[in-house]
Amino acid sequence: MGSLRIAHRLEGLPPYVPGRRPEAGETRRQARLASNEVPWPPQAAIVDAMKDALEHAHRYPDMQYAELRDAIAAHVGRPSDRIAVANGSTALLRDIVGVLVEAGSEVIFAEPSFPYYRTAAIANSAVPIAVPLLAYAHDLDAMRGAITPRTRVVIICNPNNPTGTAYTNAELKEFLARVPEDVAVILDEAYVEFARDVNGLELMDDHPNVIVVRTLSKAHGLAGLRVGYAIGDSEVMSYVSRLGVPFRIDGVAVAGALAALTPEQVAESRRRVASIVEERAVLTTALRSRGWNVVESAANFVFLPLGESTASVAAECAAGGVLVRPIGGGIRVTVGSPQDTEHLLGALPVLANEPP
Ligand code: PMP
Repeated sequence: MGSLRIAHRLEGLPPYVPGRRPEAGETRRQARLASNEVPWPPQAAIVDAMKDALEHAHRYPDMQYAELRDAIAAHVGRPSDRIAVANGSTALLRDIVGVLVEAGSEVIFAEPSFPYYRTAAIANSAVPIAVPLLAYAHDLDAMRGAITPRTRVVIICNPNNPTGTAYTNAELKEFLARVPEDVAVILDEAYVEFARDVNGLELMDDHPNVIVVRTLSKAHGLAGLRVGYAIGDSEVMSYVSRLGVPFRIDGVAVAGALAALTPEQVAESRRRVASIVEERAVLTTALRSRGWNVVESAANFVFLPLGESTASVAAECAAGGVLVRPIGGGIRVTVGSPQDTEHLLGALPVLANEPP
């Protein structure tokens, strides 16, 4: 590099590592189970709405995203002034942290969890504080214990990516009661639709410091559109919208999101979610019966702790045409169709006696 200096705070900033995609010319791939996407493309009504929106591509979208925020408000049953939207929940996470921290503030999150939390802290000149999981789940006592006067944000990934563990509202209530009111608790509910008895929105009335972050990428099956939303205190949400890049969701994605939030499409998404939840049970049972250790999951993926065998098992899957995600000391496998399950079981090595 020449004379330019990278900002000091970005030292050690990790790159975002996405799940593997098929490489160019790799047509043999049977199953893409590395990125927690749903296996089915969007319904025709959603695609048609986006095609229509292309006719208006010479215009900027509504900068306030009023119609989209209203549709989300109706979907979640909360007023639209408590909703912020962005091009993916990842962007929201960064900007929510940005609204709440000063340089040197601390942001607490679990590890292994969604790796972007660390980036969101560093990008905003805050100090990332990672608290190890306990038995694959957030160690809520340790996270509470990590709170100092400098802590401004605690992020709970619920269900957790990559392990799939989830806390029920009852469990989170106990935790929230012990968190100071001026510390924000972000509940990242990217996978909430696949879980039971988890719904951060119900915790917000008693705990105004709770902010719920969700996405259309997972249960709604629109990862390629990049639409996420957050629900929280209206003033915080207003600042999140002000801090975010203007016009950051493109008009085509807005049209797709609006179509996805109609009652028909929400019903379709619920049917798809139900079938994935069913398949999760089938896959978990099948893997366990073959000797694999599988963490009980509340999301659309399962986690197999493998320690040192992680890379070799992931490579063996890839050689068998199945892309999985090596992460956090194991492989994370997206749950998809029954066919995906078959491909995965065909690609995994056969265990002799015990899991490697
Ligand atoms: N949170 C978690 C826990 C995730 O796993 C992901 C996607 N991998 C996201 C947020 C980001 O989702 P998106 O930006 O597509 O809304």
